[in-house]
Amino acid sequence: MPAQEEFLTNWGNQALSQSETGIRLAIAQSASNLKEKGYSESEALDILGANDTINFKLIQSAVESAYGKEVVASVEEKKVDESYVVPTSYKEVAAAVENQLKQLGPKQFMNKLARSKSPIMPINEKSYNSYLRLASLAVNDERSMNQLHGDLKKWFEESMYVSVCAAKSSKNQIRVASTTNGKFVATNERGASCDVCLESGTCSCSKFTQGHFGDFGLACEHIVAAADKVSPHQRLLKAITEVNNTTASIEEEVENKIELLNSKTIMRS
Ligand SMILES: [Zn+2]
Repeated sequence: MPAQEEFLTNWGNQALSQSETGIRLAIAQSASNLKEKGYSESEALDILGANDTINFKLIQSAVESAYGKEVVASVEEKKVDESYVVPTSYKEVAAAVENQLKQLGPKQFMNKLARSKSPIMPINEKSYNSYLRLASLAVNDERSMNQLHGDLKKWFEESMYVSVCAAKSSKNQIRVASTTNGKFVATNERGASCDVCLESGTCSCSKFTQGHFGDFGLACEHIVAAADKVSPHQRLLKAITEVNNTTASIEEEVENKIELLNSKTIMRS
């Protein structure tokens, strides 16, 4: 290999390894920032990993060295157990639905869904009976369970949609105020009020209590309105932005170094 080409190849490798060092540094910095802010090792991995799938292995080892312990990606496991204060898809409540069916048995399960005072599923006798047959099969049969999930999906997603629309509706004029115990009071245009607790995802309104929303993992418009006020997404986004800013400044530093290297190369040649 001619000398000049060899030199260029070496320089290229050096530059590559330098920028990888930069990325490593940035990730390690982000991981220890998150630790300082009180995030657990698996939360740190989730936050950094969600932001950057390409460097996932690097992120994992950076988090492990920042926390001094092994950490396993928990994304898949979490989906089953995680409870969502404001669910936005049937997937997020499917586990709660299945638990209810197994705990109550098919008859009580269907009564809770379709025969309460503010039912999630306002259905007639004929549909009720066919849902009941399917729910009875679903208890011991996975295929029927999947079919049941498929049939319930539209009712639950409609309920989620209605709550979100009602929370935003100017007609309802829902106003939310926080109370001293970390909970919320939601008031509507008629002055009626209800108590919302975001930690447990509960509300004292009749729609929530009589419709058994809590047991099925659903949220009423008051929970949606309160959650909007202190969105966890907002907090998460803020954390990610801070991490990105740190990464950007370190990357800039590395780029400057490479530029300097470049200019030296030009001077020498
Ligand atoms: Zn409510």
